[in-house]
Amino acid sequence: MAIDLRSDTVTKPSKAMREVIAAAPVGDDVYGDDSTVNSLEERVAEMFGKEAGLFTPTGSLANQLAIRMLVAPGEELLAETNSHIVRAELGAAATFSGITTRTWPAKNGLLKASDALEIARPNSGPYLVSTTAIAVENTHNFGGGTVQPLEEIKALRKGADDLGVALHLDGARIWNAHVASGVSFKEYGKYFDTISVCLSKGLGAPVGSLMLSTKDRVAKARVWRKRYGAGMRQIGLLAAAGHYALDNNISRLSEDHRLAKKIAVAVAELNPALIDPTTVDTNIVGLDLASLGMSAAELATTFREKGLWISALGPKYARLVTHLDFNESQCDEAIEILKSALKAK
Ligand SMILES: *Cc1c(COP(=O)(O)O)cnc(C)c1O
Repeated sequence: MAIDLRSDTVTKPSKAMREVIAAAPVGDDVYGDDSTVNSLEERVAEMFGKEAGLFTPTGSLANQLAIRMLVAPGEELLAETNSHIVRAELGAAATFSGITTRTWPAKNGLLKASDALEIARPNSGPYLVSTTAIAVENTHNFGGGTVQPLEEIKALRKGADDLGVALHLDGARIWNAHVASGVSFKEYGKYFDTISVCLSKGLGAPVGSLMLSTKDRVAKARVWRKRYGAGMRQIGLLAAAGHYALDNNISRLSEDHRLAKKIAVAVAELNPALIDPTTVDTNIVGLDLASLGMSAAELATTFREKGLWISALGPKYARLVTHLDFNESQCDEAIEILKSALKAK
């Protein structure tokens, strides 16, 4: 059987998760009647010290609803150059909300508060675009699953307060950041006005994300969710999977981190130009192929023929992601495949 390391979204719901799904109490969530959705929204909001939460089908929608609450049409959101909001949401902020974005580049996606604050231009008057929010991604996906330094987050909050600018956390993998850093969810939560989190990545739920913020913003976002066509009915079936994921699948992420590190160390032994294993904080192994005479797409094809699926995310950037459905013996097998394919290069 192929080993699939394209993403941590490829996991399938376990038998135990499916049993919880089957037994979930449900109701019509557009009427606010689904008790399983309501309890999930309250639970996750409380975990991050926020007043309210909104269940969404995707993390992209949770991000988009959140930034829509912070940035008016014609205003500006700042984000890192390779952030998911900028690179992987198909221009949704501009398309749906009239939001313009400006970016700063960061090595491995790592936040330096000054990078963002130096380009922020709030209250720019009648000629220039006004900055109203800054987004931070933690962990940073295309940065290689890096964990944002808490000191920089604190400095960004302070600087943003001085400027009167809001902060959004794209916390699709905040669970991984928490497990790797030991920083609590409440601590991460307190620096941000809005937060998105995904249940369908490392936590292994089939679908589901949440947007978290104040009661007022979440009430408004609920209207926009319906307007975008994502008002859902007996969705407690999926919220139940989210509850199960939170109950069972957070602390085990350390195992995914351990196996990602093992892969990174093995790759670096073959060719240290491909990856510096000390940059692998969590479950993502990003390979820089600049030194190889082959593209990421060619490398992915070579691996695939040997039974290992990876993602080619740029001409010279490939990504492997460890997850719930990937174990130690598959890891050893994957390393053998990496060795045999890369030795030839
Ligand atoms: C996966 C991901 C999202 C949301 O993705 P969806 O596929 O829309 O659920 C948002 N931000 C980051 C950093 C992600 O990795």
